[in-house]
Amino acid sequence: VTSPAAAQIALAERYAAHNYHPLPVVVAEAEGAWVTGVDGRRYLDCLAGYSALNFGHRHPAVIQAAREQLDRLTLISRAFHHDQFGAFCAELAALVAASRPADPTLGRLGDRDGRSTETMVLPMNTGAEAVETALKVARKWGYEVKGVPDGRATIVVASGNFHGRTISIVSFSDDPDAHDHYGPYTPGFVTVPYGDADAIAAAIDETTVAVLIEPVQGEAGVIVPPDGYLRDVRRVCGENDVLLLADEIQSGLGRTGTTFACDREGVVPDLYILGKALGGGVVPVSAVVGSVDVLGVVRPGQHGSTFGGNPLACAVGRSVVALLRDGSYQERARDLGLVLRRRLDQLVGKGLVSVRCVGLWAGIDVDPALGSGRDICAALADRGVLAKDTHGSTIRIAPPLVIEQADLEWAVDQLADVLASR
Ligand code: PLP
Repeated sequence: VTSPAAAQIALAERYAAHNYHPLPVVVAEAEGAWVTGVDGRRYLDCLAGYSALNFGHRHPAVIQAAREQLDRLTLISRAFHHDQFGAFCAELAALVAASRPADPTLGRLGDRDGRSTETMVLPMNTGAEAVETALKVARKWGYEVKGVPDGRATIVVASGNFHGRTISIVSFSDDPDAHDHYGPYTPGFVTVPYGDADAIAAAIDETTVAVLIEPVQGEAGVIVPPDGYLRDVRRVCGENDVLLLADEIQSGLGRTGTTFACDREGVVPDLYILGKALGGGVVPVSAVVGSVDVLGVVRPGQHGSTFGGNPLACAVGRSVVALLRDGSYQERARDLGLVLRRRLDQLVGKGLVSVRCVGLWAGIDVDPALGSGRDICAALADRGVLAKDTHGSTIRIAPPLVIEQADLEWAVDQLADVLASR
């Protein structure tokens, strides 16, 4: 007899494109930080949907908002207004505007020129769409505001980046799996080493309209740049009239212990690119948030999306913004992050080669002699802990911020046992 899990896996193998290589766990239900398989087995979720589940599975406030909206209105398109749209944009804009630059040189371009800097929101659905949106806005700003000759705009990006899977985005990926055989590629991007603000300064010329970076590189393995990097990048951008685009899709919305990872250095980018957790683990919701000086370049008919800013997405997004408002999840990420860091540091030399931690987010490099990252994740799943490898022997630990401390410590115990038993 085939188990229900094996039957589902066989269907996926046969009928779904093999664009992922999931661990052999078939999830049927979830609540908070825990999920239950079709076989009734419980697992602690230490991936949290790549940080799309920062507030846990089926957070009651998010589910309530979604349910109430499902009973009223789900879609109308942007051809008309609806009663969640303006409120969502206003509330998200206020959350972003609460992040203040540590000093004027670390703020948005407009803040320094004394131009109008009212914050506005451009809602989309997926992360990649939001990144594309920011790239389009930056190019348009470059031509219409900065005065770059049409068709010449360049955007500086970092090595090791992950910004999504569209043609333009993979054009500047240096991961062969993400990049190769998808050409011809979109021109206009210049890659410099991540963590090196001088390299950004050197790459900027009169055609540069923006610098696009992840404040912490998630997919690359939770790569935390050197202290001061974001501040230096912000200053370089400001001095050169270049937009700073911060891809906070994975790092934002509480994960690093602050609302945005840029807050850790008191930096305010010109555009925040948000996604993942903005949808509360319920629906895809992404957004580009910035000042009217920049987002204002997009006029009716010039960009959009059928589902972007739909009523269900806005209702869910509002509930997420509400969860972030009093800072308690951010604080929880900081507190639990200290526990995670302390416990993981103890495993260095005992199966781990290195540990990088920021908030409740860790990248751990397993000693390759003990097996691949996938081998370790498979062994963790056998012990009831869900985590996922990224790039060879690196594993990302990113549990929902609602995880209990005892559960977090239990997960590290399982990791310690797996490493010790190999
Ligand atoms: N940007 C970053 C930093 C990400 O981590 C991701 C997804 O992992 C994306 C963009 C793409 O988001 P999506 O998968 O929703 O298109």
